[in-house]
Amino acid sequence: MPERSIFLSHGAPSLILDDAPARRFLAGWGASLGRPRAVVVASAHWLTREPAVSAAPAPDTIHDFGGFDPKLYEMHYRAPGAPEVARRAADLLGAAGFAAGIDPQRGMDHGAWCPLTLIYPAADIPVVSMSVQPNRDPAHHLAVGRALAPLLAEDVLVIGSGSTTHDLRRFRRQPIDTPEAPDSRAFAEWLAQTLESGDVEALADVWRRGPHALANHPTPEHLLPFFVALGAGGGIGRRVHASATYGMLAMDAFAFGTSDGESRRSAA
Ligand code: ZN
Repeated sequence: MPERSIFLSHGAPSLILDDAPARRFLAGWGASLGRPRAVVVASAHWLTREPAVSAAPAPDTIHDFGGFDPKLYEMHYRAPGAPEVARRAADLLGAAGFAAGIDPQRGMDHGAWCPLTLIYPAADIPVVSMSVQPNRDPAHHLAVGRALAPLLAEDVLVIGSGSTTHDLRRFRRQPIDTPEAPDSRAFAEWLAQTLESGDVEALADVWRRGPHALANHPTPEHLLPFFVALGAGGGIGRRVHASATYGMLAMDAFAFGTSDGESRRSAA
């Protein structure tokens, strides 16, 4: 059984149109992930004070970006929602002590629909969007993910959608294949090595221990989905892709849990 909890770097919305190693990776990933019953995607672009899930039965495609190719604004990802999976996720979060909310109509922001357009282009797998809490720390998001772990055994794929590094201040319209800044790669390598050594405690202390962590994440929201997926996967995982776009967005991707899909709890 394939892995059922992943973190991906969604990049710019234009990744759908531009050739890049990360685009080729995402476009091929669906074949190895297989076809889950539904997808729950925690997006860096839906920010709330408490965890929220969308129960929209037919979620809209939200074009929450400006200044890109007009083609992108005409795209719609028409996957159905999964209200029953949303209610199940909210129940699991509630049982774990979170004041989880259900949004009856929230659509899919570009953190959800852009990578799903590449991974599951047929748009026939139901999607539940989920928020992250920019005012809360990695430990909170690990706990959110742990609460959702039973979904993995129910054939639901948990996706954290953010970015391994995300300092947009460095974007000066440089080409997509610009060589990556050394401090961006240093952070990405630390994240992968610390994950693969099983040190969840160090990962949760990323803002202090990660090299150039605050420079690469001036705001936390693009890294927080990593912790949701890590928590859902039982605190173990590995990197499955490494590349960068524009020299400043590390596009690394990770898979969590054991390779047979069973999630195991780490000691952390
Ligand atoms: Zn983003």
